[in-house]
Amino acid sequence: MTKTALDCDVFVWGLGGMGSAAAWRLARAGARVLGCDQFGPAHDRGSSHGQTRIIRKAYFEHPDYVPLLQEAYRLWSELEQFATRPLLHPVGLFIAGAPDSVAVAGTLQAARDHGLPIEQFTAPAARARFPGFHFDDHFAVVWEAQAGFLDVEECVTAQIEAAKSLGADLRFHVPLLDWQPDEHGVTVRTATETIRAAKLVLCAGPWAGQFVPGLTVRRKPVFWFPAGPEYRLDRGAGTFFFDLPVGQFYGFPSLDGVSFKAAKHTGGEVVYDPANVDRSMRPEDVARMGEFLRQHMPAAGLAPTAHSVCLYTLTTDHHFIIDRHPDCDRVVVAAGFSGHGFKFTPVVGQALAELALNGGTDLPIRFLRWDRGN
Ligand SMILES: Cc1cc2nc3c(=O)[nH]c(=O)nc-3n(C[C@H](O)[C@H](O)[C@H](O)COP(=O)(O)OP(=O)(O)OC[C@H]3O[C@@H](n4cnc5c(N)ncnc54)[C@H](O)[C@@H]3O)c2cc1C
Repeated sequence: MTKTALDCDVFVWGLGGMGSAAAWRLARAGARVLGCDQFGPAHDRGSSHGQTRIIRKAYFEHPDYVPLLQEAYRLWSELEQFATRPLLHPVGLFIAGAPDSVAVAGTLQAARDHGLPIEQFTAPAARARFPGFHFDDHFAVVWEAQAGFLDVEECVTAQIEAAKSLGADLRFHVPLLDWQPDEHGVTVRTATETIRAAKLVLCAGPWAGQFVPGLTVRRKPVFWFPAGPEYRLDRGAGTFFFDLPVGQFYGFPSLDGVSFKAAKHTGGEVVYDPANVDRSMRPEDVARMGEFLRQHMPAAGLAPTAHSVCLYTLTTDHHFIIDRHPDCDRVVVAAGFSGHGFKFTPVVGQALAELALNGGTDLPIRFLRWDRGN
């Protein structure tokens, strides 16, 4: 088959957070884009649902993410202009824990390395600044004012809309079966047809294990609890993150004045089949959150008003993989977002678009290459 028989320049496999961003950035670059997802737009079966995601710049996971975040903030703003509605809410974030905890020490390191503004509080000062929260006497608390949260489903929807407005052909409820590269392109087989593309971008989220070895999927329950007035957005509350010896916990201000969302970042049961996940509310998960709330958020109610189950797809070093496939230059892969990828979505889309269309990118993603020994 020759290049003239191609149905599109780039085929995007999976249209969740990363795939919808890739479709948008590819279409923005003028590519003919076709993409499919097995579920509907902004669905709740993968990793990009549940109302909100934290965004921050002083990145404790690795300072090398900071330049990518600067670009992500710029692209979120571009998307907001397209969508004509706010998607990123810079309400601030505090991170609390022992001064040498990964989150507190890493945040300060990233802020120092990149000259980012961060305020520091002792525990007594933090109790006065963040009413309704309890901080142990030895805690250090750092506050990043430009951090905040993203409306996750709204972001995915806006990326899909932006891609479509630029001519991308995005199809939903279409399961993809397999792909086969050759000299002239890639053949993608869906449940109903066969599509020829010059390049393929794989954004399969929790289903990426079929292409990328070494990933682990974990079940992550998230909860909404009754909010005391101290936790309300309209009373000035921001997002929060605690790095504790028993694990890392995070949450969001109450958006409706009634309940707020909180969850445990660390841990979670291993999932062997992402299509078959226990989405029930388990008493042991609620009890774990109850212990955290009793200790650190005494003005919260302990009986959840709602819950959801989401999936983390972890690499062994918890850093993303964004690279060309090692066996095929025509295939670009984004995988293993390890429970912290959403804030990067548009810049990941941009990197994927450049890798697919130009074979390389100037974005600083070398530390996220496939063969780093992860
Ligand atoms: C509870 C929770 C909290 C999180 N909190 C944060 C946070 O605060 N900040 C942050 O930055 N990140 C956070 N993350 C991480 C972030 O949400 C994820 O890294 C990101 O959403 C991953 O996007 P993705 O595109 O890789 O996966 P997904 O959005 O799941 O997309 C993958 C898509 O591929 C499709 N697909 C797969 N296989 C096929 C197939 N064969 N045929 C058709 N379609 C297919 C799926 O249907 C799906 O739509 C959190 C994640 C969870 C679960």
